[in-house]
Amino acid sequence: MPGLGDVDFALTPEQELIRTTVRTFAEQEVQPRAKALDAEDAFPRDLWQRLIELQLTGVIIPERYGGAGLDMVSYMLTIEEISRVCAGLAVALSVHISVATSPILLFGTDQQRERFVVPMAKGALLGGFAQTEPNAGSDAAGITTTASRREGGWVLNGTKTFITNGDGDVFVTTAKTDPAAGHKGITTFIVTKELDGFSLGVKEDKMGIRASTTYELLFTDMFVPDDQVLGLPGEGFRIAMATLDASRIGIGAQAIGIAQGAFDQALAYAQQRQAFGGPIGRFGAIQQMLADMAVRLESARLLVYQAAWRKDRGLDVNKQASMAKLFASETATFVTNKAVQIHGGYGYIKEYDVERYYRDAKVTELYEGTSEIQRLVIARQLLKE
Ligand SMILES: Cc1cc2nc3c(=O)[nH]c(=O)nc-3n(C[C@H](O)[C@H](O)[C@H](O)COP(=O)(O)OP(=O)(O)OC[C@H]3O[C@@H](n4cnc5c(N)ncnc54)[C@H](O)[C@@H]3O)c2cc1C
Repeated sequence: MPGLGDVDFALTPEQELIRTTVRTFAEQEVQPRAKALDAEDAFPRDLWQRLIELQLTGVIIPERYGGAGLDMVSYMLTIEEISRVCAGLAVALSVHISVATSPILLFGTDQQRERFVVPMAKGALLGGFAQTEPNAGSDAAGITTTASRREGGWVLNGTKTFITNGDGDVFVTTAKTDPAAGHKGITTFIVTKELDGFSLGVKEDKMGIRASTTYELLFTDMFVPDDQVLGLPGEGFRIAMATLDASRIGIGAQAIGIAQGAFDQALAYAQQRQAFGGPIGRFGAIQQMLADMAVRLESARLLVYQAAWRKDRGLDVNKQASMAKLFASETATFVTNKAVQIHGGYGYIKEYDVERYYRDAKVTELYEGTSEIQRLVIARQLLKE
């Protein structure tokens, strides 16, 4: 029938292969350490080395720039599979690729691509994205970090907060170059930890995703040369919004990975745990929870894969990325909450993984735009359409 051939839910053989490869790595090398990584609250550099060896640090970056050159769906499968066992490691990778390496690839000069994208894709440099400030999170245009013109470059002063991979090497950051021009007075800079005036502030003690590190960055009379301006002066807000459009799909993938990990444990527990003379899975109340969890998880997965599929075809993803991120993150908090419920008191004890999944899930509703901001983006797009 005409049109039917347009819908195909099957993964390609290449996508199947990357999923199997990442799943094997995650289950064999990450899962056994996930609990300890959560307790240690430190980024596992040795596992980063393994991501390098598996060519995952530049999974969607073209081969020409040192990456694996795979598609967005393959990248989402990668994030989902790692998140299924350790959401902290997954978000470190997703931030490195989506909001640090990708904007330099998209908006950078040839020289910036050679200098930064190539070593970042190969994992030799770890990247971060430093936009949020103590008094400007959702309100990205409200930043107060300034960049003043000097011979050959700009001098930055300000504080960035909640920066994932803050102890990394390269950061895409924003500062006001023309404070009177509102969001059109913001410029993007590529800064490195070696710059004079760059320092780390507090390390945040987080509820979850503790295998990723989160730092404050302090810029004190930090001189950034002209060849480290990304895009044109005044383009910073546009670059940030375009970057987040694509990266939000990755947070959606992280959320479905967390939800799947918790769901698998809840399903197994429902079959093992005995009460009133049999497994708790025979109770209607438990079955209702499992069914609701599975339906939401499958719906979220379809939204995430669809947004990634659109991205691979060069279609606009503004609304779809926000829908995927919003629904997947709220699904993750729903599913992990029910997974704890199905475990009863044991769900509240650290020996069981579901309490970690429950803590890890919440942040997906907060970063790269809160759920309220995603609803704003979706509604604006609906009204425009
Ligand atoms: C673990 C972690 C890692 C992070 N990593 C990074 C990173 O790598 N780089 C980076 O730049 N940032 C990062 N962030 C920051 C994150 O993106 C912000 O916390 C987030 O955007 C929200 O900003 P805020 O915390 O200032 O909250 P606010 O913006 O102060 O929001 C507070 C509340 O008000 C609501 N609200 C705000 N504006 C509106 C509105 N217009 N309409 C309706 N409701 C509204 C929000 O939804 C929220 O509920 C990270 C945060 C965390 C927790």
